[in-house]
Amino acid sequence: MNQFEYIRTTDSKAAIKAMTKTGEAQFLAGGTNLVDLMKMRIVVPDRLIDINPLPLRDIEKTLTGLRIGALASNSEVAEHPLVKKNYPLLSLAINAGASAQLRNMATTGGNMMQRTRCPYFFDVTLPCNKRSPGSGCSALEGYNRMHAIFGASTACIAVNPSDMSVGMATLDAVVHVSGPKGDRSMKFTDFHRLPGNEPQKDNNLLPGELIIAVDLPASRYPQNVAYVKVRDRNSYAFALISVAAALDIRDGIIHTASLGMGGVAHKPWRLTAAEAFLAGKKPVDENFRKAAAISMEGAKAYVLNKFKLTMAPNAIRAALQQAAAKA
Ligand code: SF4
Repeated sequence: MNQFEYIRTTDSKAAIKAMTKTGEAQFLAGGTNLVDLMKMRIVVPDRLIDINPLPLRDIEKTLTGLRIGALASNSEVAEHPLVKKNYPLLSLAINAGASAQLRNMATTGGNMMQRTRCPYFFDVTLPCNKRSPGSGCSALEGYNRMHAIFGASTACIAVNPSDMSVGMATLDAVVHVSGPKGDRSMKFTDFHRLPGNEPQKDNNLLPGELIIAVDLPASRYPQNVAYVKVRDRNSYAFALISVAAALDIRDGIIHTASLGMGGVAHKPWRLTAAEAFLAGKKPVDENFRKAAAISMEGAKAYVLNKFKLTMAPNAIRAALQQAAAKA
């Protein structure tokens, strides 16, 4: 590991100020991803700003929903009584990710910031536009079994690895950030970005901005939810495909549906066309099959991930069946 300056602060303004000084700087929270990247010399900061003392750990009711502090651990969120009662989809998504030990350390903000698990991103001897802009994308013609089927570019076909983020995006969460130019908020679905010509940018944070909290709106899906994660082994593995499904069923009819997918794009992928199709329909398999087919419009596979074109609609259908069965 190279040498770096270490700053620990109890004040978010001081943390943001330290971030904007010259040289490469990183905020340190749980460190479950960042420290690994530093050991592998993929991230080589001049300065680490330890934000663990900041008062950002609370999970509290708001007038309209629930506020989750950026430093609340994944375990604290998944097991919180109000999350389990009102946002069970988020508990399911978080508990599908990583291991119990990692969930105890990893924070909400850190989970949002985690980097792709594309193997070439981790191999500093091979080209990777995300790690080294302009060097090329080794995955395009290489080992692309885990890679995107939606929203990719010729510069990068990596996927976002977070289960928690799929749950947050599906539940219409809102992200609050603070930075050198003040505070602002954005939809969770706008936080992560597609690779385009700048795959080195995973998200839409501006320089120096710090994630403060994530707000969940009033609970719409306390019951009919499912998180289906298809992976190579049953725990501690990243998704080949994951599907978050939430249904609001009233008198035997789907009032609204929220659907998101992981393992398919550079960001959590909302299935808005399928959501619109399902609204007003009966929660029956014929409609779930059609919703899955609609969701796959525009999908594009590469040599080794063609199986996702079949696996994804099957997973969508399974998630919808599971969610509806809880009625
Ligand atoms: Fe790098 Fe993205 Fe290509 Fe993977 S897919 S090698 S992360 S540019």
